[in-house]
Amino acid sequence: MAIVICFHFAFLPIPSNLMDCKLEYAINKGWHIPSGHPRDHKNFKPELFETVVRVPSRYPKTTKSPLHGHTGPGRQSHHPALVYADAEGHILDWPALEMAGAGGGEWQRPRFSELVPLPEGSELFLLPDRLPVGFNSALRRFEPLAADPFAPEKPVRAVAAFISPAYTHLYSPAYRTRSGAPLLPLFAYTAVGWLNGNFVVPAVRIDSDRRQDFCNFDLKLIERNARRRMSAERENRLLQHLGKCALTYGCPAAKNLFMNRWEAPLPSSPECNARCIGCISLQESTGLSATQDRIDFVPTPEEISAVAVPHLQEAQRAVVSFGQGCEGEPLLQAKTLEASIRMIRGATSRGTINLNTNGSLPEAVEKLCRAGLQSIRVSMNSARPEYYQKYFRPKGFSFEDARRSISVVKANGGFASINYFVLPGFTDQESEWLSLRKLIAETGLDLIQMRNLNIDPEWYLDILKPDLREKKLGMSRLLSMIRQDFPHVRLGYFNPPVE
Ligand code: SF4
Repeated sequence: MAIVICFHFAFLPIPSNLMDCKLEYAINKGWHIPSGHPRDHKNFKPELFETVVRVPSRYPKTTKSPLHGHTGPGRQSHHPALVYADAEGHILDWPALEMAGAGGGEWQRPRFSELVPLPEGSELFLLPDRLPVGFNSALRRFEPLAADPFAPEKPVRAVAAFISPAYTHLYSPAYRTRSGAPLLPLFAYTAVGWLNGNFVVPAVRIDSDRRQDFCNFDLKLIERNARRRMSAERENRLLQHLGKCALTYGCPAAKNLFMNRWEAPLPSSPECNARCIGCISLQESTGLSATQDRIDFVPTPEEISAVAVPHLQEAQRAVVSFGQGCEGEPLLQAKTLEASIRMIRGATSRGTINLNTNGSLPEAVEKLCRAGLQSIRVSMNSARPEYYQKYFRPKGFSFEDARRSISVVKANGGFASINYFVLPGFTDQESEWLSLRKLIAETGLDLIQMRNLNIDPEWYLDILKPDLREKKLGMSRLLSMIRQDFPHVRLGYFNPPVE
């Protein structure tokens, strides 16, 4: 039973009849179809998608699988079927094998209670040179699907979901990688299956805030507002940059700026003092493409204030955040940030000024708190210093500095969260939990943003080399243990306004 897809920000040019199928699926699901969607984009980066393929689709009305009965109309199953992509890129389900997930390279069976329908705005990726792996409930074993059951002479590919913001995934996709397979680009890969007429994924909605829900973006309105402001404020380089972020990269934070609501971005730094292996704004010698260009200038406090002040004065639940995906490390521009915060607070006391950072310079954070910084989010792939070191490859700072930056903000009465990169099978290792407990207890942090790590899971584990035989708690259990042991600590995905 073949089905489809998803809608996200940039599109491959897709033949109309397949687009119609997409639309048909979307309409059946009652999903919001934003008007004026750019189907072929002048700044689109095809090289980003040379290895993963977005999903042309078609209802294979003719595909009568003998096992079709399993998920036939009216019979509700609790075991999602494996989905795979055939040679033409159609996505099909194969009910003879159950959907499987993976954690730290170990294949597992997600529980029915861990499944949610594929969230609107998610995407499906076809994974090159990777065979889908499912669970054979008759033989009680995991096994790869080596060829297309409907065309045995033809190859198949594994399928993964890139799920929407506000959802934390519980399992990576289960697949067997062929030798010589290309690295997967910098996206987060989640297991996906087919159940009772729906794509399903093992994930939880970790944040009820709807600021990046796909259905909330009116692209025509955003385009109108962005073009109007960009022409009215031609001299403001930062605003011109954010216009491109909203209209070219589809950055949700930049789109919210031009819808005058919630959290707006204030990128400021072309340089960084870390070399994260999964950096999305600068990739050197990995053969991977950074998913967005880094800002190439340092805006002045006047340019920053001109973007921030109207937003803080007018937007509902207003937050402005230094530290975005399209820049390096904002703390390297601490003097500019301090002057900007003083200028902003000189004009308005409304809203929240937040800093997303790698936390490398706690002394600079102290000065920013004195200037009026209210909230900080420190990025961490792990609370275990050895794995933090291997991922961030920091220049002149360490995990200890990042930890201290959290404590500095707490000591100044501010709100502190961590941007915790989640990879099932690593994040839920027992020793990771013990280190996270220690970090929470020592710093008094307020919020853990459980964000899916955008990286090829096998490549990441190959570089960090954790002991994969170590006991894993399971992501669902880890979430409940955090809630149980630290009821005052929030779990979320976004920077909240500080009340
Ligand atoms: S801290 Fe941010 S900008 Fe710097 S290398 Fe890491 S991901 Fe890239």
